[in-house]
Amino acid sequence: MARYIGSVCKLCRREKQKLFLKGQKCLSEKCPVEKKNYPPGQHGLSRRSKISEYGIQLREKQKIKRQYGLLETQFRNYFEQADKAKGRTGENLVKILEKRLDNVVYRLGFAPSRKSARQIIKHRHILVNNKLVDVPSYLLMPGDVIKIKEKSKKLDLIHDSLKKVKEHIYPWLSVDKANLSGTFLQVPERSEVPLNANEQFVVELYSK
Ligand code: SF4
Repeated sequence: MARYIGSVCKLCRREKQKLFLKGQKCLSEKCPVEKKNYPPGQHGLSRRSKISEYGIQLREKQKIKRQYGLLETQFRNYFEQADKAKGRTGENLVKILEKRLDNVVYRLGFAPSRKSARQIIKHRHILVNNKLVDVPSYLLMPGDVIKIKEKSKKLDLIHDSLKKVKEHIYPWLSVDKANLSGTFLQVPERSEVPLNANEQFVVELYSK
């Protein structure tokens, strides 16, 4: 599958905000957004044109897409699913994205970023309900138990990542650090999800 292979820090600079795509670096002084909070490129600093309504909608969509590490087609497909479901489309969209296995592995603290979570999953280190799952886009259901495979429990990446998690802040997940497992208790409400973007603009953008 196609994927973005450029500098992820440039994506944050383009949005002029932290999208937390690089684990610990995002919390350190080395984060480029701390030093250069303007878009990358030759004209990044001088570009100050007034942003149109379409531009605002587009930027919000890009922020969400990039935080979850998705390409356009995948994101659009999730939007279609969200639109068909009952309730508010924008909230449905965030709920679907939160069910992705790579997102949950990251939020449980087993990986420092969603990108890293995708690698762990693809390298076959993760079990869901005791069955190996190597598909990062796998959508979890309430009650699903996510575990690190027995043979993979010594991986430094996982332990280093867990050590850096100071407190567990996601009420829809429970984590058992000692056994390297966690449970997806329920689909979170939109208000519980720490996502610094407005999904309503995505709905407006795709409704044109
Ligand atoms: Fe974004 Fe993290 Fe890079 Fe900072 S360090 S620019 S938050 S990916």
